[in-house]
Amino acid sequence: MGRIYNFSAGPAVLPEEVLKEAQEEMMDYRGCGMSVNEMSHRSKMFDNIINEAEADFRKLVGVPDNYKVLFLQGGASLQFAQIPMNLMKNRVADYIITGAWAKKAWKEAQIYGDAAAIASSEDQNFSYIPDCSDLPIRENADYVYICENNTIYGTEYHTLPNTKGKLLVADVSSNFLSRPIDIEKYGILYGGVQKNVGPAGMVISVVREDLITDDCLPGTPTMMKFKTQADANSLYNTPNCWCIYMCGKVFKWLLNNGGLEAMNAANEKKAALLYGYLDESKLFKGTVRKEDRSLMNVPFVTGNKDLDAKFVAEAKAAGLENLKGHRSVGGMRASIYNAMPYAGVEALVKFMTEFEKENL
Ligand SMILES: *Cc1c(COP(=O)(O)O)cnc(C)c1O
Repeated sequence: MGRIYNFSAGPAVLPEEVLKEAQEEMMDYRGCGMSVNEMSHRSKMFDNIINEAEADFRKLVGVPDNYKVLFLQGGASLQFAQIPMNLMKNRVADYIITGAWAKKAWKEAQIYGDAAAIASSEDQNFSYIPDCSDLPIRENADYVYICENNTIYGTEYHTLPNTKGKLLVADVSSNFLSRPIDIEKYGILYGGVQKNVGPAGMVISVVREDLITDDCLPGTPTMMKFKTQADANSLYNTPNCWCIYMCGKVFKWLLNNGGLEAMNAANEKKAALLYGYLDESKLFKGTVRKEDRSLMNVPFVTGNKDLDAKFVAEAKAAGLENLKGHRSVGGMRASIYNAMPYAGVEALVKFMTEFEKENL
């Protein structure tokens, strides 16, 4: 059986070259007679894997020396707690609510202190990014929190909020490494890797060094202190070795394919093709305000539930899978991450064009 075009929002498509390399190394990783899955995380072999992965990530993104790169478990969702535990010195934080993930993070922060929603786009089912140029950010706020790309709703910040000098914390799970990143604009930037980077089971958190201290909220578990993880080079306990190895391969794939500038150009081109078609279509329509559209997750509807279901089923039969939209938006969603080739989006648009002819 051949490979399909996988439009899943996550876990999601990975570069074929990376999968093939992993396949070749599965039984015998570089002459050591075992798989990375069987290797001690304290071995010289694995030490090379994690160090190389971090070095490649730093090179790819251009991470300044005063930021730590941490490979952590618990996914993006555990960061919802880890961030307030480590940063909420005044027990005050301001959240911008642009979707379900931002809302979950905000709810979690309320366990630890006074977390306020200072802006929201919930009034229009999160179909836009609110104006963030002059927000009521509190004087004693420990940080301002955003979710930079809203996986479910298909919106993305194209300008970062004016935080009025406060620390910016961002969840970039679904647009991580899709374009160049100016790390210095963030105190912390983190992403669960299973959307645009690697397999499930890990989050990469890039944390400014001065935020890594022992001064966490009382009761913070040892493992939840950024300091514990930073001091141990992400090896305080057994990490997700396989995921670090796979992400390392993806970083090399990105470096070999022109880095984040080239990735951004390719992503712009894919998105332009799909949005261009949606803007002209008489059957399908995008659900997001134009200027806030995501380059990664593209939700669209026909306006007719039965027709949506028919589309998803017929697309699947044609080898275009996981196009069903999230239940909170309905319709369809095409996730067109880094590893989705242009040909995949072309195939989707061709299929949509034919479906439109037959069903309009
Ligand atoms: C998927 C997703 C999450 C949750 O990730 P987990 O790793 O499953 O906890 C959080 N934020 C965003 C933006 C996501 O897309």
